[in-house]
Amino acid sequence: MTIRSLLVANRGEIAVRIIKAAKVLGIRTVQVHSAADADMLAVKLADAAVDIGSPAPKKSYLNIEAVVNAAKAAGVDAVHPGYGFLSENADFADAVEAAGMIFIGPKGDAIRLLGDKVAARAVAAKAGVPTVPGSAGRLATIEEARAVAAKTGFPIMIKASAGGGGRGIRIAADLADLERHLPQASAEALAAFGDGGLYLEKVITKARHVEVQILGDGQNFVHCFERECSLQRRRQKVWEEAPSFLLPADVRTRLCASAVALVREVGYRGAGTVEYLYDEATGEFYFIEVNTRIQVEHPVTEMITGIDLVEEMIRIAGGAPLSIRQADVAAEGHAIECRINAEDPARGFMPAPGTISKLSVPQGEGIRFDTMLYEGYTIPPFYDSLIGKLIVWAETREACLERLRGALEGLVIEGIPTTIPLHLALAADASVARGAFDTRFLEQWLETEFAAKTGATAEVA
Ligand code: ADP
Ligand code: ADP
Ligand code: MG
Repeated sequence: MTIRSLLVANRGEIAVRIIKAAKVLGIRTVQVHSAADADMLAVKLADAAVDIGSPAPKKSYLNIEAVVNAAKAAGVDAVHPGYGFLSENADFADAVEAAGMIFIGPKGDAIRLLGDKVAARAVAAKAGVPTVPGSAGRLATIEEARAVAAKTGFPIMIKASAGGGGRGIRIAADLADLERHLPQASAEALAAFGDGGLYLEKVITKARHVEVQILGDGQNFVHCFERECSLQRRRQKVWEEAPSFLLPADVRTRLCASAVALVREVGYRGAGTVEYLYDEATGEFYFIEVNTRIQVEHPVTEMITGIDLVEEMIRIAGGAPLSIRQADVAAEGHAIECRINAEDPARGFMPAPGTISKLSVPQGEGIRFDTMLYEGYTIPPFYDSLIGKLIVWAETREACLERLRGALEGLVIEGIPTTIPLHLALAADASVARGAFDTRFLEQWLETEFAAKTGATAEVA
């Protein structure tokens, strides 16, 4: 069935991004919004808008019944979930389909399987993809945890099977730590994700976060190369690049092939990301999880491959076979994305919503700004602090960094503090320029280099 209309079940910059893709495809858009979001940019750009409830996410963007009812009432053919919120909720995908509409993403069962990080590890192992050494399944007893730790050693990572967004992860330094943390971690996971299931992973020190973008139509699967996302704060990505420039060519080939093997194993449909940790010292990579949705950092892949991932996922959901063959996917040049947040770097990155008094966006070849902002817009305090993504492309990484510095200088957002100063400092940093960083780099750098340069405190206020 060709999709002629779709409901955007999200907010912020990704809602705007989805509407743009829909417009290109000639698809009518209906935008849901909470009471706090009536004046957001996506509401202005969409063909129609529906108020689905109070500002609290549970009452609106996470309310399956409210979103499905809005879609039914609007008479749309399909629902795009974006990222976060209900995007990886299998019950939501099922509810959309049960109501006779298309969920733009994988089938509920695939989300259920791959969204469970323990089950996903088993899928990876079955597909011959190396996983991080750790527990075989969900931890049942403390004795089992002790046995796993005896094999992997300490420190060891306790992870929630249903975790996401950098939450539900903690590190145990020794046995006493492990025994103390387990019950607490399980209780917290149950409260946060509705599932107290836990598993253990060896801590890969000096790891790089490398992930592979894939597309599948259930029968055919392609990868769109990899992204490097090691610059993280509190296990959340801050700056992303494509490709992962220091990856040896043979490792890249095996890594991308392993991601395709994994999604083939489950007959995956849609866009997805297979995440790995890469150990530069040994050249080994280890699967960590699959994200069954469009990702925040998808634009860097679009910039190097020329593929519009959001348009592709809509086409696939509409029943079209994958239009791209692996041989057609070529990567050219280098792209970097900076996540611009409404946060104050001088005050421990405290969220700082407010009104945008001035906005000036850099223009030019290889420069893209995905945003929800406009002058006069007041950012509500209830949601994620991501307000825009500056993406820059150039022929080489060096040229890309230079273009990025100019673009960051040209990006003016007044009225609220933002993370632009952080990105300016990163773009000028010698270690970043050399590519000498791992997943722990940014937090250490914030406490030393960045604090010295700006007087900013790394501590959370
Ligand atoms: P990406 O993997 O695309 O970089 P992030 O980890 O930054 O995505 O998450 C994207 C958004 O989704 C963020 O707003 C994050 O807080 C949210 N998110 C991701 N997974 C979950 C989850 N399981 N529960 C709640 N929020 C989540
Ligand atoms: P989420 O679902 O929250 O995105 P991930 O499993 O993708 O969780 O892990 C998020 C981040 O945590 C990774 O990008 C990495 O920086 C760190 N991490 C996760 N597992 C490990 C591990 N076994 N060793 C070292 N770091 C890890
Ligand atoms: Mg992850």
